[in-house]
Amino acid sequence: KLHNTILELKGNIRVFCRVRPSLPDDARADTQVVTYPSSVESLGRGIDVMQNGQKYPFTFDKVFSHDASQQDVFVEISQLVQSALDGYKVCIFAYGQTGSGKTYTMMGRPEAPELKGLIPRSLEQIFQASQVLMAQGWKYKMQASMLEIYNETIRDLLSPNRSSSGDISSAPGKQYNIKHDANGNTHVTDLTVVDVSSISEISSLLRQAAQSRSVGRTQMNEQSSRSHFVFTLRIYGVNEGTEQQVQGVLNLIDLAGSERLSRSGATGDRLKETQAINKSLSCLADVIFALAKKEDHVPFRNSKLTYLLQPCLGGDSKTLMFVNVSPDPSSVGESLCSLKFAARVN
Ligand code: ADP
Ligand code: MG
Repeated sequence: KLHNTILELKGNIRVFCRVRPSLPDDARADTQVVTYPSSVESLGRGIDVMQNGQKYPFTFDKVFSHDASQQDVFVEISQLVQSALDGYKVCIFAYGQTGSGKTYTMMGRPEAPELKGLIPRSLEQIFQASQVLMAQGWKYKMQASMLEIYNETIRDLLSPNRSSSGDISSAPGKQYNIKHDANGNTHVTDLTVVDVSSISEISSLLRQAAQSRSVGRTQMNEQSSRSHFVFTLRIYGVNEGTEQQVQGVLNLIDLAGSERLSRSGATGDRLKETQAINKSLSCLADVIFALAKKEDHVPFRNSKLTYLLQPCLGGDSKTLMFVNVSPDPSSVGESLCSLKFAARVN
């Protein structure tokens, strides 16, 4: 009975932790700062962080150690992805400091198929599963959009309008205003929305978005680690036999780096930028905590990201947050911050 109450209070937010492997540039240390408790109870759910000789233990819905493959991770989220086809609103976030593995987790690396991340794998699964359902009388219309939120400004990553330098952030006359209609659907004015019906179409859109992001990056100081990337797939399904209808949404989000001000040593414009990131991440936290506590007032309107995702957070939607952690000893402070944040969500 008590257990049920706790589950209910927890809401629909789950948290998975993923630790990336050590990289050649990481600092060397005599002792490992990230370890996994070996008790059977916590198998695959616990993580300990050592700082100044003190041990900080955490437990999440799942913990992936450095040797978990992209497929190992995908297996654990494939059901959640599938539920978007059944009409659920799904959000999957990657949270963590820059360099902790968020983009690796969400997008993966292009060199080899086994390094593909959750976004391409999820889309492949959606298309494969929809083929099976189509044989049972279902018809689907799917629409993709990709945007970036930087300093509380939306950039359309699929915009055909670019400045001569290729930058789309200055697409002339575009107003990206977020609107919610009475049916709980979100609409961003002027945002490019593309009908997609195959994985190859989606792949080329993902390449286009990556290209748009990298143009912004060289022009605006590594902007990608300072912006939120939001991929949205809308799924409209109708069964021609039973006339049943479903409307699902899959949001896959690579958040801006969560590192704190002190570390980035920011001044001037960079300081403003860091404050904007911290503000939007703390707005996201406020919303998630308010939802978890089932508070009457949820402050969705305090940031573009939370306002955009409002219909997909809370209610009967499904939310999963990855907290990405680096094993680099010089990042232990940031890792602890990320894990404490995620533990509060969870
Ligand atoms: P972030 O997006 O959080 O800034 P990245 O995803 O770019 O971090 O990861 C930083 C570096 O670590 C990249 O070179 C990436 O390829 C590598 N990396 C991250 N996670 C893994 C992993 N699980 N396995 C192998 N390499 C990883
Ligand atoms: Mg990244």
